Amino acid sequence: MRTPMVAGNWKLNGSRESAVTLASEIASTSVAGIADNVEIVVCPVSVHLAEVSAVLKSTSVKLGAQNACAEEKGAFTGEVSASMLAEFGCEYVIIGHSERRSLFGDTNESCAARHKAVAAAGITPIFCVGETLDDRESGNTMAVVESQLQSVFDACGDNGFASAVVAYEPVWAIGTGKTATPDQAQEVHAQIRDFVAARDQQTASLLRILYGGSMNPRNAAELIGKPDIDGGLIGGAALKSADFLAICQAAAAQA
Ligand code: PEP
Repeated sequence: MRTPMVAGNWKLNGSRESAVTLASEIASTSVAGIADNVEIVVCPVSVHLAEVSAVLKSTSVKLGAQNACAEEKGAFTGEVSASMLAEFGCEYVIIGHSERRSLFGDTNESCAARHKAVAAAGITPIFCVGETLDDRESGNTMAVVESQLQSVFDACGDNGFASAVVAYEPVWAIGTGKTATPDQAQEVHAQIRDFVAARDQQTASLLRILYGGSMNPRNAAELIGKPDIDGGLIGGAALKSADFLAICQAAAAQA
């Protein structure tokens, strides 16, 4: 049995004040019922972690970060390590988001190293995979997704996803308002589970695979209703508490 999960990726948005307000709205409403059936995570900008962590204390909403360094400490200007994030109460870290891969030079290898460091710090990586429109149109969706997953097996071994979450985020659907159809998403999710199962059957059956890419309150129920879609990684719609909570409610209804 996999508990559905909805994670909000706040990206580079908000102020100290608005981050606290958004976290408070999510925490206060979710405690009133939804959170019994869905795991809710918010991932603010790293400089807002302390204040958001204080708001979430004693609530069931979990804290996540948007990236982590593969190194523990040292001469790595601008980076934040997994153990530092753990000190702030982070239970999840998004790794390999397509914006990191396309804008900041993250590679399969560096994402896998980050994944490994996060897991070693006792935090759950949310490992993002997904194809570009070119990849999809040239029939390479699964080759790309499998090479991204393979990098984790290469770095961490057969049980590299044992304490992890995978987010399937087709790059062409992120922030574009274009969503993969539920059938398109289900097809890839099922193949991701099969790919992991070939290495470790039990991990695959327990693995939560989130869909990300313009999920919103109108399309969430149909997407999360598919058998291999265990929730969502939400960008734009995570910045409005009402929209985010409506998605959480859709996920809770599937539990
Ligand atoms: C994301 O950035 O992870 C994402 C899914 O964004 P959006 O929901 O805005 O497409």
